[in-house]
Amino acid sequence: MTIASRWTFPIPQCSLQQWIFGSACGPLPDPTRRAFIDPAQPDTNYLTMADYRLLAKRVALGLQRAGLAPGDRVLVFAGNSLFFPPLFLGVLMAGGIVSGANPGFVARELAYQLRDSGAAFLFVAGQAAETAFEAAREVGLARERVFVFGGEGGGGGGNAGVVSAREVVRAAYPAPGVKGRVDGARHWTELLAGNRAAADRWSWKEPENAEETTCCLNYSSGTTGVPKGVEISHYAYVANGMGVVHMNNLHPDHAAKLKRDIGLCFLPLYHAYGQTYFIANLPRLGVPVYIMPSFDFLKMLEYIQRFRVTTLPVVPPIVLMMAKHPLTKTFDLSSLVNIGSGAAPLTLEVCQEVEKLFPGGDVHIRQGWGMTEVTCTSMSWDPTTAITSSAGVGEVYPNCKARLMSLDGRTAVEAAGERGELWVTGPTLMRRYWRKPAATAETMAVDADGTRWLKTGDIAYVDAYRPGGIFHVVDRVKELIKVKGNQVAPAELEGILLENPDVADAAVVGVTVDGEELPRAYVVRRPQSAATEHDVARWMEGKVARYKHLKGGVVFIDAVPKNPSGKILRKQLRDRAKDEVGDS
Ligand code: AMP
Repeated sequence: MTIASRWTFPIPQCSLQQWIFGSACGPLPDPTRRAFIDPAQPDTNYLTMADYRLLAKRVALGLQRAGLAPGDRVLVFAGNSLFFPPLFLGVLMAGGIVSGANPGFVARELAYQLRDSGAAFLFVAGQAAETAFEAAREVGLARERVFVFGGEGGGGGGNAGVVSAREVVRAAYPAPGVKGRVDGARHWTELLAGNRAAADRWSWKEPENAEETTCCLNYSSGTTGVPKGVEISHYAYVANGMGVVHMNNLHPDHAAKLKRDIGLCFLPLYHAYGQTYFIANLPRLGVPVYIMPSFDFLKMLEYIQRFRVTTLPVVPPIVLMMAKHPLTKTFDLSSLVNIGSGAAPLTLEVCQEVEKLFPGGDVHIRQGWGMTEVTCTSMSWDPTTAITSSAGVGEVYPNCKARLMSLDGRTAVEAAGERGELWVTGPTLMRRYWRKPAATAETMAVDADGTRWLKTGDIAYVDAYRPGGIFHVVDRVKELIKVKGNQVAPAELEGILLENPDVADAAVVGVTVDGEELPRAYVVRRPQSAATEHDVARWMEGKVARYKHLKGGVVFIDAVPKNPSGKILRKQLRDRAKDEVGDS
């Protein structure tokens, strides 16, 4: 049986930038409203909505002049800053496609994404320039096409720069105080040279077909294999945003609420969750956002108190910290109205502990469920629905549909409370995996009427088989491991382990320790090897970003359990890991 959303409405066939700003040159509803604010220098360092649009247009013009052709991929390898959103939208306005990379990547991980996406340009935050140059060299991307980004006042908390973000928006290049080339790479403000007046008058070209025009390529390993570029169209991005706006407008006094709303962003802007909320949805709703360069628990508490933050999208480890950290109670968090959690499972007990911090009993952690392959969200809460259990992920998102299926995909689960694999469909669904038709076909089921369903690899149940039924995500059958909300693809780590001369075979699974999922490797040593488990774990550390380190442990085994066709029996290893070290 299929459960359809309670809400359907048409999605406009327009670009994401058109949806956010309404037009390229026309008046903005509130041009002086602050869209993005640096919490470390809130009075002087911010971008208004007019700045946001103008800077994005200047980036677009600069990219076109630098040779960007429609459909070119632009990889952004940077932490959060005030400039990340205008860069993102500038690429779209120029007709390009953004691909965001985790700023913690080492050169080989970045080189993989550069090569796989075929990126024509790379933007890198100053601190990571060396890694970026190395990766660019490896894939043969010309230094001329690498732009160093940030460090001129738009850095966000603690990254006091040379000039304020607004000066960059208005400056004719070179902006005052901005350094020139770094090791031969161009500084991104070069793109803005002499185009201030032209940008004022310039309009982007709307896509001919927003459903068939990809705007971003966020990387996800999906249900199996290595990370793949997820092609999200302008239409899907807008559909995702319209869902958020719709759910927000269900709030009885939503207009007044919106006037009070303040967002705080520390979720990474390269990932679908932070990206959709902070680059698109909150600016469109008119909610100002304080952008932190990265997550810092104490600063988060301080900023919530100081700026009277109301809206806090988080991931489960942060909720856990809020519940456990003794300092949480010493801050005034009474301004918080919406705490939304997603990207990984969160237990009811932890939700309840945090909810106890708000004596009025009216603040709930509202979990949502989503996947990079559905732009961001497919399940969320109607704000007027009484929360019976915070462990639920809400109901089917506007315009979307969901099903629960047996693991072989043949029979639908029909009874409330019965578990099945979650399948979802709707306008937010990805177009396909970038240049990977086999992986796309493997992850989609197509109905007789042509409807494409995403087989999510998550196990869920619904409390009532009707529109509005609340879903609970209870397990995962796909390979994916989630470390603090970041994706870790076992196939990637296994591939790297096999490069180790001491390793004959390997399998990596997730294990939950103290409420956090961590990668754990089961390794078959080569016969003459004297390597220890510790050696293998240390060896991996030089090869991948920190969150992929084998912090869940390394265990030597005689043989990796596999089925007759050679597929790793992951469930067996996951169960073993749980018995050995995991949470019960
Ligand atoms: P990503 O594509 O990085 O957003 O990862 C998507 C995956 O994160 C989902 O398929 C789930 O396995 C997991 N996930 C997201 N939200 C939740 C949630 N609320 N509860 C449990 N798992 C979740």
